[in-house]
Amino acid sequence: MENNLPFFNFNKFPDILIAMSLRPDENMKVFYDFGKDEKALINRERFLGKLNLSGKNLVSVKSISGSNIEIVTEADLGNFVENTDGLITARKNVYLSITIADCLPVIIYDFKKEIIGLLHCGWKGIEKNIIGKALKKMKDVFDSAPKNIIAGIGAGIGTCHFEVKEDLMEKFSSYPGAFSKEGGKIFMDLKLVAQKKLEECGVWQTNIAASPECTYCQPVKYFSFRKDNSQPLQAMMVVAGIKGTN
Ligand SMILES: [Zn+2]
Repeated sequence: MENNLPFFNFNKFPDILIAMSLRPDENMKVFYDFGKDEKALINRERFLGKLNLSGKNLVSVKSISGSNIEIVTEADLGNFVENTDGLITARKNVYLSITIADCLPVIIYDFKKEIIGLLHCGWKGIEKNIIGKALKKMKDVFDSAPKNIIAGIGAGIGTCHFEVKEDLMEKFSSYPGAFSKEGGKIFMDLKLVAQKKLEECGVWQTNIAASPECTYCQPVKYFSFRKDNSQPLQAMMVVAGIKGTN
């Protein structure tokens, strides 16, 4: 299966699996309000089957656009972790998953210690410093050094379509380069902010790759929260993990 997130910096680590579903794979966002969303679960199994995986190989999040990050192991397989937007594992064959539809998936990998993390990053999570907290957790728990971390960002909404209000410019005033004005409108480059956050934590710029693709720009390929305006939200899933045996 073609890797939809071909981050150049992950190429030399063939044991890393990173995959993202596309719109033709259908909705992957599971809602629990009225009992489990069976259709999304079926879509997930079909997509995961293409990766030779199933939901049993996966730990998923129930995102709340926060900054809570959990470290997971085999004991969590098959679970949807409550109130969580980031997962980290040191275990092989424990695949992490999030859903996105404009928000950025951010994958971080310590290639020395073989620790992988997957973060669901909208502006809210980034404002709450989910990226800094994830890297701190990797350092505190696994003694990860930033110089050994590679990162991949996206695909997600691009600056071309991420129109924001003045308040976001104020919230992210340390990143003036991430904002542009056009015809009285303000646009934000969320990928750039994510990249700067990684760099602030000591991740080398040369170890960060970002997908140039905008989810809003490509309605055939991607779901987009902002473009689709669908109720309930439909989303892609991103899966990341380390193959092999522990
Ligand atoms: Zn766009």
